[in-house]
Amino acid sequence: MSNPRIVYLNGDFLPFDEARVPIMDRGFLFADGIYEVSAILDGRLVDNEAHLARLDRSLGEIDIANPHTLGEWVALQTELVARNGVAEGLVYMQVTRGVFERDFAYPPAGTRPTVMMFTQEKTVAANPLAAKGARVITVPDLRWKRRDIKSVALLAQVLAKQQAAAAGVAEAWMVEDDAVTEGSSSTAFIVTAGGTLVTRPLSTALLPGITRQAVLRLAAEAGLALEERLFSVAEALAAQEAFYTSASAFVMPVVELDGKTIGTGVPGPHTRRLRELYLELARAGT
Ligand code: PMP
Repeated sequence: MSNPRIVYLNGDFLPFDEARVPIMDRGFLFADGIYEVSAILDGRLVDNEAHLARLDRSLGEIDIANPHTLGEWVALQTELVARNGVAEGLVYMQVTRGVFERDFAYPPAGTRPTVMMFTQEKTVAANPLAAKGARVITVPDLRWKRRDIKSVALLAQVLAKQQAAAAGVAEAWMVEDDAVTEGSSSTAFIVTAGGTLVTRPLSTALLPGITRQAVLRLAAEAGLALEERLFSVAEALAAQEAFYTSASAFVMPVVELDGKTIGTGVPGPHTRRLRELYLELARAGT
């Protein structure tokens, strides 16, 4: 099936079918690479500098020199979005340690990282799931200990998301020692019965969500009390509201966890307000 997309690979904008990566790429062999995702809304990238700052940090944590300046990244992304005419969707960026004969330790200095980007068209703002609220299941968190790095090693999340898909729900919340760590591809939040917004604090044990960061700023502006701490599954079930955030889901209400209704079973007012505020911020091009 031919794909009309233009993708970016190592300096070239290529038709989808012509973009090829050698089998000795370390991303393919070892998942030795990192990625980033920015949303596109009204043809513009959402909170993109924060995503590119996290990309730079992820690269630094695994000793890959960032192949591009911030300005170069933005120029490449902008050209890719324009070439594909995407008004709403995502731009995916990936950098791996490059191509070399298979050996666990790093290849010689000077090995060129593989840089790849593609776009996806997707309804991110008028997502019908946001109106009705998502159902979520809990699964054990099977991941490694450096979850702050946005690594392409996503097998635990693939298994988690497949369990969600098999259960007919939108997301899986991962649980460790009875606490909700994160969604399989999102940050988890609750609003307690007392009206406090709760999400866990940043550390090496979770991805520093870019949407999380924006939502925490908005919550403070909206006067919502905030506690950065872990919460249990029981606490989530007893919450007034729950939601998750990510670059593609924005602020997604959660109305059911493991088959049990959260709050009134419809998206709650705090969650709806935060989604609206986030959309305003996104459309304002920040
Ligand atoms: N946690 C995990 C494990 C994720 O995969 C993601 C999305 N990539 C997030 C949180 C949300 O991060 P962001 O808001 O930057 O998309």
